Amino acid sequence: MSDHETHIRVRFAPSPTGHLHVGGARTALYNYLYARKTGGKFVLRIEDTDAKRSTVESYKGIIEAMEWLGLNWDEGPLRGGDFGPYTQSGRGVLYHNEVQKLIDNGNAYYCFCTPERLEEMRFEMKEKKLPPKYDGRCRELSEAEVAERLSKGVPHIVRFKMPHDGTVFFRDIIRGEFSFENGNLDDFVLIKSDGNPTYNFAVVVDDAHMKISHVIRGDDHLSNTPRQIHLYHALGYNVPKFAHLPMILGSDHSRLSKRHGATSIAYYRDRNYLADGLLNYLALLGWSLDGKRELFTHQALIEKFSLKKVSKNPAVFDDSKMKWINSEHLKKLPLTKKIVLVQGVLNDEGLLPPAFDVDISKPVDLKIVPGGEEMTGKKALNYNMNDKETERLGTIINILGNRLKLLNDVPDVIGYFYTDDYRVDEKAVRLHLLRSEVPNRMNKLADEYERLKYFDRESVEKVLRDLAFNLEITAGELIHPCRVALTGKIVSPDIFWVVVLLGKTKTVERLRKAAKFYS
Ligand code: GLU
Repeated sequence: MSDHETHIRVRFAPSPTGHLHVGGARTALYNYLYARKTGGKFVLRIEDTDAKRSTVESYKGIIEAMEWLGLNWDEGPLRGGDFGPYTQSGRGVLYHNEVQKLIDNGNAYYCFCTPERLEEMRFEMKEKKLPPKYDGRCRELSEAEVAERLSKGVPHIVRFKMPHDGTVFFRDIIRGEFSFENGNLDDFVLIKSDGNPTYNFAVVVDDAHMKISHVIRGDDHLSNTPRQIHLYHALGYNVPKFAHLPMILGSDHSRLSKRHGATSIAYYRDRNYLADGLLNYLALLGWSLDGKRELFTHQALIEKFSLKKVSKNPAVFDDSKMKWINSEHLKKLPLTKKIVLVQGVLNDEGLLPPAFDVDISKPVDLKIVPGGEEMTGKKALNYNMNDKETERLGTIINILGNRLKLLNDVPDVIGYFYTDDYRVDEKAVRLHLLRSEVPNRMNKLADEYERLKYFDRESVEKVLRDLAFNLEITAGELIHPCRVALTGKIVSPDIFWVVVLLGKTKTVERLRKAAKFYS
């Protein structure tokens, strides 16, 4: 075996013409996983030969999104490597040297046809219901004619001289055998009139020069592959192996695009999705371990991924499944990590440091929260949270348990612990507060809590139940309005924990406020 076959080198080659989208990220991920699994190298190459559409913002956005996802490349922008530069706009000399070889060995030719002539030709072909194909007029120009036009500076492009007969074969790792009649392929352009290489030409030169062993990319490039194979042969390069990934469809079963709403990685990052949750979901868009298991850590993906198990069939992007996978990843994070993430979201919402002081008299013992987890490792000291506040947040997260599905829900789900300006559910108010007997009861509960010396869970529960007994009502008749008064919601974690974690002052204040407002 040659070096080329023994050393696995794969690449992700985005064009910086927009955001990194779900489809591109899935391609990047499969390349990354394949490299990590096989001990190969993962190269990032920026394909910016389309000078009009390429932008610096897009380039930066792609790099940031890749880094956020944790798809660390071994060679490429910011990292360097032996085969740079890794941005096509810096590789012009190489393309010109290589195209000269093709011209010299008779595999390419200059074409001086004007854009108008090409347009006319395309129109005629269309009229005749023929596939649009260059008619080869400049293919037969003599050397002298070419030299003369070049010396006069006639604008030109360079085309590949496609054989008229024969067939090109290749075997795709995922899709199997393919064959294309050369007669159906055209004399495609290698160098455009602005001197820039076309995608088909630059991609082959770069993949060969960067010693790429496996080209793993979207199946929208399947039809380019026969042209590219011709180029490999004409330039005397080794042909890499190809793996074309199945299309990703939207819920309406058309190709996933911006029309389907959010598809950029930045969109999900900005909405506080977990990078590992997103990676997990992206991995399932075309790959499955055994048709059953769906949850994978980053490391497990590396261990389990294989190109052989990538499906030929299109995958359907399912937003609710992605949310579910994210919530499963969130659930599994250690408490300390959750605290840091939740702090970040609260901070972004302007909820940290808390706008109001709670008066939890005793430090909360996390061990006594049912199912609660103790904090291990270093306490989160971010965002000016002191130890007591951090413990309080840890307890809030513990009592929420699996109710916290997405980090983006944090402001809504626990905002009332950090601000008085929380959302109040009108239906909850109608159901539980807008009743004539309620204000009096809320005031009585406030009186009891005000008198209470130790504001711990056991005591606050006893006070409420004793009051219900004395008023000859059920505990629920106090609990429900109390919950709405304190949280603005019909559902919340255990109400007695909510009371404890809001502290005496806030609890009494909100009960009295509700009594006054709804009387
Ligand atoms: N720049 C091309 C794209 O973004 C890369 C295609 C390929 O991987 O060959 O579609």
